[in-house]
Amino acid sequence: MNENKNNPITRKKFLRMCGSIVAGATVVSVSGVMAKKAFSGQASYFWQIDPSKCTFCGRCETDCVLPVSAVKCIHANRVCGYCDLCGGYYRANVKDLNTAAENLRCPTGAIVRKYVEDPYFEYAIEEDLCTGCAKCAKGCNSFGNGSLYMQVKQELCKGCNECKIAKVCPSGAIQRVPMEKAYMLKDA
Ligand code: SF4
Ligand code: SF4
Ligand code: SF4
Repeated sequence: MNENKNNPITRKKFLRMCGSIVAGATVVSVSGVMAKKAFSGQASYFWQIDPSKCTFCGRCETDCVLPVSAVKCIHANRVCGYCDLCGGYYRANVKDLNTAAENLRCPTGAIVRKYVEDPYFEYAIEEDLCTGCAKCAKGCNSFGNGSLYMQVKQELCKGCNECKIAKVCPSGAIQRVPMEKAYMLKDA
């Protein structure tokens, strides 16, 4: 795990970077993909998750038609508390706050933790490793402030006529929305 105390960045600098660059880049890249799909006539609607309805059931990982789900965890940096004891990063009731695999919620090592300054840590998602299991988002919403959440990544989604996950989602969180509707990001 990436936990570098020898090369810290200040919390202030980090918050500024996350707020303006990371969130902005996410919105821009998603908008670009949607615009490309719309322009090519591929789609005028797209599937997305309403983060306020998702109950982290795990079906996003198992029911997408793709071998690895198009649903990924997203981290809302501006919402995060940068906690040392992160409910999305650590399993409940861990004895030691170290990065041993048995202490961590993510089964694929997709959450990267980096030291900011005492007692703050930055958390980021390695999207290529994320399988969309929602275990981290469940932990963050149970013990933290819900800055980790799930969303359909448009650059990966096939835009199925009937989203297989939407059919089984127990909370009706996945909706087909018009292309012009804003992407549902917690820190947008
Ligand atoms: S199927 Fe629905 S409730 Fe379950 S993780 Fe996906 S969006 Fe959330
Ligand atoms: S716990 Fe699951 S949803 Fe969260 S980052 Fe890891 S693989 Fe993705
Ligand atoms: S529309 Fe298809 S590819 Fe996209 S999330 Fe749903 S099942 Fe997966």
